[in-house]
Amino acid sequence: PTQRPVQRVTVLGSTGSVGTSTLDVIGRHPDRYSVHALTAHTSKEALLAQCLVHRPAVAVLDIEADAVWLRQALKRAGLPTEVSAGPEALCEVARDESVDCVMAAIVGSAGLLPALAAADAGKRVLLANKEALVMSGALFMEAVARSGATLLPIDSEHNAIYQCLPAQHRGGLARHGVTQLLLTASGGPFRTWCQADINQVTPEQACAHPNWSMGRKISVDSATLMNKGLELIEACWLFDAMPEQIQVVVHPQSVIHSMAAYQDGSVIAQLGNPDMRTPIAYGLAWPERIAAGVETLDLFQVARLDFEAPDEARFPCLGLARAAMQQGGGAPVILNAANEVAVEAFLQRRLGFTQIGQLVAEVLSRPSQSHADSLESVLATDQWARQQALELVTRWSA
Ligand code: NAD
Ligand code: MG
Repeated sequence: PTQRPVQRVTVLGSTGSVGTSTLDVIGRHPDRYSVHALTAHTSKEALLAQCLVHRPAVAVLDIEADAVWLRQALKRAGLPTEVSAGPEALCEVARDESVDCVMAAIVGSAGLLPALAAADAGKRVLLANKEALVMSGALFMEAVARSGATLLPIDSEHNAIYQCLPAQHRGGLARHGVTQLLLTASGGPFRTWCQADINQVTPEQACAHPNWSMGRKISVDSATLMNKGLELIEACWLFDAMPEQIQVVVHPQSVIHSMAAYQDGSVIAQLGNPDMRTPIAYGLAWPERIAAGVETLDLFQVARLDFEAPDEARFPCLGLARAAMQQGGGAPVILNAANEVAVEAFLQRRLGFTQIGQLVAEVLSRPSQSHADSLESVLATDQWARQQALELVTRWSA
């Protein structure tokens, strides 16, 4: 058999939900993958444990004091892993010459610059961090095209759509006879709740997702349906689609991960157990397939598949995201930044659940000179919107 070279992988956000699943898949295939770098924000103990197993060349934390702690612990364990700290170190391990593949699994806007660094450097980019595309979709896709990077979507819906499209789907959906993308949504834990009960939702309730186990931010986003709104924007950029070409379909079993509809009437779907290791393994091995540790779907156990339209009255965030994408320019940047601030305030019990959407709508309605045509303008718009959102949190939680 021919010997294939081992792929060197950087996992950004390795201690998170997607990061942990990524290391689980990598650990099953030591003949195919080795780890160049692992990174975490503050969870230094978890990062140490991962380093002991995966023996990366580099480990990155946010602050130098944590890096000092990790350096000493690794030295005691006899590992030669280099430890660095801060946002620039994240970009370095993303663009390092020895790296083939970068998993972008940091949550929120903090993931933008390292993901962009990987795209700029022409890596195989496994993109879980949807906020990067929401903030800077045009710039990101340009960087991918310019550098010749391979962009593989890891968000399960986008990974599903990718699998349902023809292998060469560049150049617009219409060219390939695709009329619509059907983006499935679980509907979140409050799908059947009345408005009065939704108003009383606590962070604990919002973080307990029925089908997926995820980080806290995306769990809240799933509960408000902002996650589906961010995914709609993400799909527009990934597949060169108009917002009108994307239909959100609530499918509570989360077994169909999304679909593509063709002009001949065919609808192609990708199904599987809800486990992120499937899209992660797909991204790592594409165009080949590897084992992911996920059991084959048992359709007799699933028994039935249900579909319904999303209720945008109880879940206004979806409509806000669609409108922001239609408006274009800096609107998606503002939507994302205001949402990040609002979700954090909700998790700290400074805002109610329903106020998340209200706050995002309020910041979006304010006059701004927002653009997203350069990285500088994206970052400036992001800062402006955060400032506005923080002021509102202070006022509304007083
Ligand atoms: P998580 O909160 O579980 O993990 C986030 C990771 O990022 C951690 O390793 C954390 O240390 C790191 N991090 C957080 N803030 C940071 C900062 N300021 N600087 C550097 N590192 C930082 O999140 P998750 O659920 O794994 O989600 C990660 C990304 O993947 C998100 O963008 C999310 O939308 C996307 N995603 C997640 C899932 C899922 O099933 N969890 C599915 C689809 C997409
Ligand atoms: Mg998703």
